[in-house]
Formats: sequence, structure tokens, C-alpha cells
Amino acid sequence: MKKITLSTLVATLLFCLPLQAAERPIAIAIHGGAGTIEKSKMTPEREQAYRDKLREALDSGYAVLEKGGSSLDAVVAAINVLEDSPLFNAGKGAVYTYDGRHELDASIMDGKTRAAGAVAGVTRIENPINLARMVMEDSPFVMLAGEGAEVFAQSRGVKLVDNKQFDSKERFEQLQKAKEKLEREQKQDKDYQAAVEQLPSPFKMGTVGAVALDRDGNIAAGTSTGGMTAKRYGRIGDSPVIGAGTFADNRSCAVSATGHGEYFIRFNVAADICARVQYQGKTVTEAAGEVINNVLLPVGGTGGVIVLDASGNMALTFNTKGMYRASRSSSQPSQVAIFKDAE
Ligand code: ASP
Repeated sequence: MKKITLSTLVATLLFCLPLQAAERPIAIAIHGGAGTIEKSKMTPEREQAYRDKLREALDSGYAVLEKGGSSLDAVVAAINVLEDSPLFNAGKGAVYTYDGRHELDASIMDGKTRAAGAVAGVTRIENPINLARMVMEDSPFVMLAGEGAEVFAQSRGVKLVDNKQFDSKERFEQLQKAKEKLEREQKQDKDYQAAVEQLPSPFKMGTVGAVALDRDGNIAAGTSTGGMTAKRYGRIGDSPVIGAGTFADNRSCAVSATGHGEYFIRFNVAADICARVQYQGKTVTEAAGEVINNVLLPVGGTGGVIVLDASGNMALTFNTKGMYRASRSSSQPSQVAIFKDAE
């Protein structure tokens, strides 16, 4: 009798263990920037190209999770697809600085350990998110900037590329337009920062990011960007700043942000959202809504966030006309959207 009970128990365990693992939720959300994105101003072909690339990034991140891979691997896989596309302002599609160069920022955070890595103002790194991860996993530091980050990259076997590799006709035209607008504003007695404030949001946005939850219950977040068109003086935005543009802690949530970086730094956006989840018991939707709409919007801070908790709850929240975004979880099929109204 005892023997039967034992073997039944073993059989039940053997049957249940893989099932349990398969039942644990997995989830991923990605963004490709928020801003004045209007359907009327986009050709159907261009819209389709964005949707296809978002879907490809989502699928590659989700495939990692489905195979039992880590949330960090999923975040990097999704971001690499977007960095390698000229459509988004990160990696290949990075915008121009005022001086006609490209300076890239990225960061990543592991929600299990709160380990983090970031690079700022790098000019010769093809996939800055990969280097941010190396900083996290293979250095005693959290953030490396400029040339130093590139020396570190070389020491770890990363091939440096020519800054010209990020050149594109479309982004160059954007720079010329941004400079014309800046000059017009500055002629009206405005300093550079005040003139930048007057630039329409398409000149300030387009970052990419991802948040993911793996089968082990760990969440992670990552963000990568070329920053703002016509940025000057070594300007660094929120994307490589842990707590501002990126944050992850299993006890609260994972966040990747996009928008006018100066506001996201000043209002510590990513960490504030997770603090509301952790200390006030807010849902990710409530916390993101409060910070994006009630804190940022009244002071003129535009942009959005993707947020995910360790149970797989997601919020994709923005206060602009649109945000390139996509999400999928074990309980929700793929969704790709660009404009408001989940379209
Ligand atoms: N947040 C980025 C920055 O300020 C820009 C963006 O999200 O598009 O550098």
C-alpha cells in the first residue's frame, strides 16, 4: 500500500513539475519611442514597416522566454532587432548631434539582483545595449561614458565601428530642420536649452526599450537610444540613467522609458513608478498613469513607459499622440500598436 502511494506520488511529481514550469507566466513588452506620431502623416507602407519590425523584435524576445531563457536575454534580443533597424532612434537609426555626429546611450537592469549597467555618449558601438550588459556583468561599475566605455569595449573584444556607420539621409535632414528651428528660436533671445524646449517632439524622441518576465519569475528592463536630435555639449538623456529611463526590481516592477529625457531624469520616472507599486500597493497601470499623466504632463514632460511586474501585469502608458509599442504574454496574444486607442 505504502509502495503504491510512493510511486503515485513520484509519478504525480514528475507529471506536475514540467507542467508547473510551463504554467508560470512569461511576458514581454517593447517600445520604439513616443511622440507626435499621427496616422494621417504616415504612409501605409511606412506604418507597415514599423509594425513588422516591432513584431519581429517582440517575437525574438518572446522566443527566448518560451525556450526558458532569462528576461535579460529576452530584453537584449528584442532591443538588438530595433537597434539594427534604421527605423528607430537607436543603434543604426541614431539621430545626429548638433555637430553632425552620433552619440549613443543605453542601460540595462536585472530585477533579481538589482545589478545594472549603462553606457553614455558612445560613438563607435554598434549595439550599445550589449555593451551596457557587459558593464553590468563584467566590470565593477554601473555607468561608463565616451572614450572610456569604448576602451572597455575593446578590452572585452567588442569591434569598434566608424561613427559614419550611423549616418542616414533622413536623419541628416531632420538635423538641418532642427538647427533651423533652433536658430530661429535663439534669435528671439532664447538660450540653447530654451530653444530646445520649443522644438517639436519628433526631434526629441524615438528611443527603444524592452521589459520582460521569464519562467523563473525574474524581470528585467533595458533601453537604448541615439538621444535627441541636435543635442550638444555631451548632453546625456534619461535612457542610460538607472531610475530615470530604466529600472527593474522583482519586488515592484521593470520599466523602460521614452520621452523628453530631462524631465524623466528630474522626476526619476522609472524608479518613482516602481516605488508606487512597492510602497503604495498600486498596480502597474495605476502607478504608470499617475507618473506619466499627473506628474509629468502638468510640467510639460512628454513621453511614455512600458511597465511589467513579476506576475506578468503590463502597462504601456504615454501622454503623447502615439508610442510605437508591442506586447505579448502567456495569457495575452501579440499586440502591436502605434497610435492612441490601441491601434
Ligand atoms: N529619452 C531619450 C532622451 O532624452 C529620447 C527618447 O526617448 O526618444 O535622450
